[in-house]
Amino acid sequence: MTSAAADLPLEGGCTCRAVRFRLTSRPLFVHCCHCTWCQRESGASFALNAMIESERVELLSGEPELVETPSASGAGQRIARCPRCRVAVWSHYAGAGDAVRFVRVGTLDEPGRLPPDIHIFTASKQPWVVLPRGTPAVPEYYDRKRHWPAESLARRDAMRARAARKDAPASQDLLTGPRR
Ligand SMILES: [Zn+2]
Ligand SMILES: [Zn+2]
Repeated sequence: MTSAAADLPLEGGCTCRAVRFRLTSRPLFVHCCHCTWCQRESGASFALNAMIESERVELLSGEPELVETPSASGAGQRIARCPRCRVAVWSHYAGAGDAVRFVRVGTLDEPGRLPPDIHIFTASKQPWVVLPRGTPAVPEYYDRKRHWPAESLARRDAMRARAARKDAPASQDLLTGPRR
């Protein structure tokens, strides 16, 4: 289950501590992505991302800088980095837009509290990475309705309804996420 045991809020930040943030609720879902793009961007063998509504990420200090970065889909992503130490704290992908942040779990003070809910793109995982039994794993992507808990699906529906209800200027706000 999605971090059911995680005590909240969870706090995190960059290495120089200029950027600090807090997750005000559990994430929607936690991906462990073994795609070659995540391997390159992390410099490691997979990326661990907690998907969460942008409004549930409270900025405590600093102002991450959004860096346009190519993505596998071709649509691009924006990686939020500390303007000083340049550590990446979260990403926005074109698919989910700015309303959702993919928070890098390794930037949390206690990253062990958000283990993966699913392993994705395992077709390109490093051969020495042995996946644990009991956690879903898929060769590429997956069907959200099959894997997300009902609460997360409901939160996603609510987010989409909010976006649809708003007229053009307001939904523009939602697309650019909370500004501080
Ligand atoms: Zn920093
Ligand atoms: Zn990936």
